[in-house]
Parts: sequence; C-alpha cells; structure tokens
Amino acid sequence: MFERYTEKARRGIFFARYEASQFGSPHIETEHVLLGLLREDPALTSVVLPSARSIAAIRKEIEERTSLREKISTSVDLPLTNESKRVLAYAAEEAERFGHKHIGSEHLLLGLLREKGSFAAHLLNSRGLSLERARELVSKRQNTTDRAHDIVEIHGEGLDLSYVQAQLVELEKFAWRKRQWKVLDTLVEIKSGRIFFDVTLKDDPGFKFVVGGWRSEFCSVCHWELNTHGGPEHADGYTNGREWLCTECYEKFLSPRDPGNA
Ligand SMILES: [Zn+2]
Repeated sequence: MFERYTEKARRGIFFARYEASQFGSPHIETEHVLLGLLREDPALTSVVLPSARSIAAIRKEIEERTSLREKISTSVDLPLTNESKRVLAYAAEEAERFGHKHIGSEHLLLGLLREKGSFAAHLLNSRGLSLERARELVSKRQNTTDRAHDIVEIHGEGLDLSYVQAQLVELEKFAWRKRQWKVLDTLVEIKSGRIFFDVTLKDDPGFKFVVGGWRSEFCSVCHWELNTHGGPEHADGYTNGREWLCTECYEKFLSPRDPGNA
C-alpha cells in the first residue's frame, strides 16, 4: 500500500500509529496522522506553521479534546479510521495533481485538509491554513526549497515573516478590539467526549454542560496562549469576536495598519 510513499511520508504514517497508541486510541485518527507528519517532517512544518510552538499547541489541543485512555502496545497494528483512509486516497490524488510520482508528507497534509470535517483539518484551518493556501505553499516550496527566510521575533521566538504575512491577508479583513480573555462554558457530547461550543444546545440530553470547559485560546498568528492563569501577558488580547490575537502580534502587525488607530 505504501510503496509509492517517500521515506518521510512512510515514517509519518509510522509515527501516526505510534501517536494513536500513546493516546490509547483503537484507531489511527486524522489528528494522529497530523502529529506523525509534524514530527517527521520539520521542514514541511516550517512552511505551513510559524514555529515549533505551533506544534506544541496542536498537540495540547489534541490532548485537551481526547479522553486519555491507557496506552496501547506499539506492537498492535492499529487500523486507520475511514476518515484517515480517505486522507491517504486524497494524498495520492494530490500527488497526481502536482504531477509527482511519489506521495510525500506534503500530499498527506493536503489530504488531511481535504477531509474537511476531520479534527486534523479543523486544527489546521483554525491556524489559518486552508487547502488552497496549503496547495500554494506546496508548489512554492518546490520552487524555493533552500531560500533563506526572513524572521520576525515574537515573544522571543523567531517566526517566518512570509508565514505571518500570509496570515495577515485574512486577519486584516476583521475589526479587532482589546478584550480580556475569559474561560468559556462548553458542551461535551456524551457519546464521543468531543467538545461543542454552541451552548444553546444545553438541554440536549446528548450533551453535558461544562462550566469553564474551555480554558485557553491561541493567538491566530504566533499561537501564544491566552488564558486566565498565566498572568497579565496571557490574559489580554485582541479579538474579532471569534479569533484571538496576542497583544504583541496585534501591536506589531495590525495596529499600524488599522485606520481606526491612525
Ligand atoms: Zn501572537
């Protein structure tokens, strides 16, 4: 099945299985495939995500939404879910679309984004990575593999400037207001343990209402954590009502462009 895969892609799938076993999951879910890829191909990660911190943030988000079960021995051959199987099929299609003979981790990443309802697609979309944008980055990456990147510093960590600029195209569409981040109430679907933000379904017997169920949010640019327990620099941010930016990113990238603040 994996004979057309590059070494990196093959190892990515290997690590996906490892991740699933560490989470005690009986199947390889799309989020495990994503973790496997991020782990195995840091070069790909640096093209699509701004920093090492993003990977930590993604892992944390997966952990928060997964009910941790007992680890499963890595010798058990865990099966892929149907979603993950479709991701592999999409990856093959994406390789074809680019005229590539081999299926690489970049095609698997595109496959994850094409499985739109998956948790992996949600994790990437919520960090500003759409399928269209990822396709663009993959084709650009081919042309400029070794180009030096301009780096901008946020919270003492270097971010790829072209990544930041790509995010800003979307973020500039919104009006941002300074707000204190607050813990959100959530619903948890009893059957699956997955989290639901629309609390108007509070009385639905399929859900459990959890006061303060959502305890942190991430900056849409640098993935700095906004929360109520990390002191003032983690508490204040800017929001468009849906997404959040840390104060540093807002002040550095958006306030000079905001005509309201001129
Ligand atoms: Zn930020």
